[in-house]
Amino acid sequence: ETVYLNGEYLALADAKISVMDRGFLFGDGVYEVIPAYAGKLFRLEDHLERLDNSLKSIRLQNPHSHEQWRTILSPLLKNGQDQSVYLQITRGVAPKRDHAFPQKVTPTVFAMVSGITPHSDPDNGVKAVSMEDSRWKLCDTKAITLLANVLLRQAAVEQGCAEAILFKDGYLTEGAASNVFAVIDGILVTAPKSPAILPGITRDVILEIARKNDIPSSEQAIAKADIQKASELWITSSTREIIPVVELDGEKIADGKPGLVWKMFYKLFQEYKQSLR
Ligand code: PMP
Repeated sequence: ETVYLNGEYLALADAKISVMDRGFLFGDGVYEVIPAYAGKLFRLEDHLERLDNSLKSIRLQNPHSHEQWRTILSPLLKNGQDQSVYLQITRGVAPKRDHAFPQKVTPTVFAMVSGITPHSDPDNGVKAVSMEDSRWKLCDTKAITLLANVLLRQAAVEQGCAEAILFKDGYLTEGAASNVFAVIDGILVTAPKSPAILPGITRDVILEIARKNDIPSSEQAIAKADIQKASELWITSSTREIIPVVELDGEKIADGKPGLVWKMFYKLFQEYKQSLR
């Protein structure tokens, strides 16, 4: 498997960085995950804009233009396959371990490709568990510093669940590695963009699809009690697309089967993907 590291394409086993890298020592870096369908990067500009915002948030200059990124990432994609690209930029290797930024430092740039696992079983969904959102106040920055997300997801997995659905001060934020949608009183709702959530690209696509198809949708504060009234609950992300959640905290959502609105969006999402090929 070929990966990209600091200007070179290498076998994964040969890609090595220093233990003094600030990503390793401090989690001082940002990342992106970009799906590619039939070998073509999906909504690349949106992902690169979000990368620009993440870099700005951690006061790191983007080492590459958007055009250069396309040139760097394209050779990693296998012809005609559905895959995802992971890219990461850290502040680089510093001479000593000091929290403050080092003076002269070159960012470490890494990219690799992996599989995607969209939900394709129309008859079954996944279980989720609600948890207190224990993360920091910059959740709109796609930082590699993911310890809280790791612990939350692990706790969910240990309870036989696919995702932890997070609440902050009684209101829904997002999943440990996904955005969350619900259908409440026939309206598709999701938490508004704010520093408390990552502005998901899949989230944007779903809201666009809703608008194009005159399906009522709303970005609004969602209390935990509202979720208990939901007829559908979904999690969304670039690598998992749209997944129906059929059980939350051991309680079935509606009849415990993927809902009709999910089925419609699943189909519309696949059509939208096809239209970009
Ligand atoms: N929120 C969090 C915390 C995430 O890690 C992710 C992506 N894995 C998302 C939302 C979904 O974002 P996207 O649709 O751009 O993949």
